[in-house]
Amino acid sequence: MITEQRSKYLSDSVQSIQPSGIRRFFDLASSMENVISLGVGEPDFVTPWNVIEASYHSLEQGYTAYTANAGLFELRKEISRYMRRRFGVTYNAENEMVVTVGASQAIDIALRAVVNPGEEVIVVEPSFVSYAPTVTLAGGVPVPVHTYSQNEFKLQPEHIEEAVTEKTKAILLCSPNNPTGTVLSKADLLKIAEVVEKHDLLVISDEIYAELTYDEPYTSFPSVGNMRERTILISGFSKAFAMTGWRLGFACGPKDIQQAMLKIHQYTMMCAPTMAQHAALEALVNGQKDVIRMKESYRQRRSLVTHALEEMGLSCHTPGGAFYVFPSIKSTGLSSEEFAEQLLMKEQVAVVPGSVFGESGEGHIRCSYATSISKLEEAMKRIKRFIENME
Ligand code: PLP
Repeated sequence: MITEQRSKYLSDSVQSIQPSGIRRFFDLASSMENVISLGVGEPDFVTPWNVIEASYHSLEQGYTAYTANAGLFELRKEISRYMRRRFGVTYNAENEMVVTVGASQAIDIALRAVVNPGEEVIVVEPSFVSYAPTVTLAGGVPVPVHTYSQNEFKLQPEHIEEAVTEKTKAILLCSPNNPTGTVLSKADLLKIAEVVEKHDLLVISDEIYAELTYDEPYTSFPSVGNMRERTILISGFSKAFAMTGWRLGFACGPKDIQQAMLKIHQYTMMCAPTMAQHAALEALVNGQKDVIRMKESYRQRRSLVTHALEEMGLSCHTPGGAFYVFPSIKSTGLSSEEFAEQLLMKEQVAVVPGSVFGESGEGHIRCSYATSISKLEEAMKRIKRFIENME
């Protein structure tokens, strides 16, 4: 009765999306004791002290008002320098950038700025859980393109070709990828760029894990071919700078698109939090050594986890970036949901079923290794025991 009454008032789009599968699972885990969580997608480090202090100073100096809608000009200039220095992409701080409330808001306003009702957006799956629902809320139609473990979950250009229709507007790309950790090389990106150009598409390139690559130098999508004019680059401070709770991200791209995104941001958000913007400025100016320190720690943990999983027979490619491994659990005969649920109940280890990241994630689980070595070692012992007891 209540549901019927409510649904009368709710929009079709909000009713067509489901709450995040990750949250549902972690509500269950949080009600249990002695759980080791490999579930959360965030650094276990506290934000470096100098960054925290910069926000204190911001408040002490009385910066308690709104900033410019697009963000503090000083911060935008520093983002511009940072992107050129680290990734070889150049954006004008005056009009080719918007500072947002996390990368999440940047993705939302990017989609709302470019998608007309009914237009299709290709979502490369397995994908970050918010992409498809955000496309739907923007009035678009998410079209999944699957990637496969036999190609280390790398997007194959011919699969984009197969998915393109006259309604396709854009592709949502994510490298390094959440949940697979896969990094697309320059050669991979050039092949994707050819298809993008051929079909006159836009690319929303989520590069929030760009600092966290372990094997090869990172290539940013707008730096290849003619892609700068077709790309909305999304990034932020959450992952590399251990700042998830500060809610600070940014988008860069061609002026006309950024100015359109700014209109939405202006009317719906005003600006990102002022003290968080001052903290982010400090992170960019003095934070690179901490990024390297945290990354080296993730690299060590990646090695521990991939070796342990391989040894217990859960095959998994070595992910080139982010802080996730995405092993196959097909050999156990369980679905990813069954595996995650039974592992949680029997051994109190929380992982995320691959199916929450799209159909092509089925048969896998996502384990985040952004947790301490001692917890990772204990979790690996428990998973091993869980599998042995199954046999
Ligand atoms: N993009 C990807 C691929 C993510 O994994 C996440 C967070 O998990 C986000 C965006 C959201 O980042 P933010 O905290 O900056 O909103």
